Amino acid sequence: MRLKNVPGAREVIADSEFVVLYPEQQKGNWAALFGNDDPVHIEIGMGKGKFLTGMAMAHPDVNYIGIEKYSSVLLRAVQKQEELRLPNLRLIRMDAEDITEVFAPGEVDRIYLNFSDPWPKDRHAKRRLTSGTFLARYQKILTRTGRLEFKTDNRSLFEFSLESVAESGWRLIASTNDLHHSELKEGNIMTEYEERFSAMGNPIYKLIADQGTE
Ligand code: SAM
Repeated sequence: MRLKNVPGAREVIADSEFVVLYPEQQKGNWAALFGNDDPVHIEIGMGKGKFLTGMAMAHPDVNYIGIEKYSSVLLRAVQKQEELRLPNLRLIRMDAEDITEVFAPGEVDRIYLNFSDPWPKDRHAKRRLTSGTFLARYQKILTRTGRLEFKTDNRSLFEFSLESVAESGWRLIASTNDLHHSELKEGNIMTEYEERFSAMGNPIYKLIADQGTE
C-alpha cells in the first residue's frame, strides 16, 4: 500500500459518524453501538474497504468493523461509507497490536485478514498479523466458536501462517492454494489487492481456522 500524506484525511475521518474515534471506550459495548445482537466480524488491515463494504452489503445481519492503521488509506473507506451509509459497518483507525484494548473476551465472531503485509525479514516475524503473538491476541477476543479467515497471494506468508496456526494450537478448518478454483470461492468477495494480483495470474491462498472448541 503506497503511503502518502493526504491533506485533510484526519479531519474527514474525525468528522465521520461511521468512524469510532475512541474505540477502547466501546470495549464490551459494541452490540449497544450497533443497537442489536448480531454477530461482530472484523477485518484487520482493511485498506480502502472494498471487501468489507461488499460484505456489509451482502450480509445485513452481521455487524462489520474495519480496522486500518493509516488515515491516508482509511480515508477511502470512510468516503465510500459516507456515500453508502451502511448501518452495519463502522471503521476504526488503529494499530491491531492494541486489539485486546478494544474488544472484550468473546465479543468478536470472526476475524478477516486479507493480503496482510508480509514482513519478510525473520526479525520482523512477530509483526506479521498471523504470527503466534497476534493469534494469542485474537484468541482473547474471539467467541468460543469464532474463526479466522486469511487470504494472500504470498506463498511464504501463507506457509508461515499455516505453521503458526498449528503451533498455536488452532484447528485448520480449510485451506486452498488456489481459492478462485476451489469450492471455498463460493460467496468470495474480492479485495483491492486480490483483484490486482489475480489479474496478474497469481493464485490466491486461503485458510480458515478456529480454536477447535466446537
Ligand atoms: N486488505 C486490503 C486488501 O486486501 O486489498 C489491503 C491490503 S494492504 C497490503 C495491508 C493493509 O493493512 C494496509 O492498508 C496496512 O496499512 C494495514 N495494516 C498493516 N498492519 C496493520 C496493523 N498492525 N494494524 C492495522 N492495519 C494494518
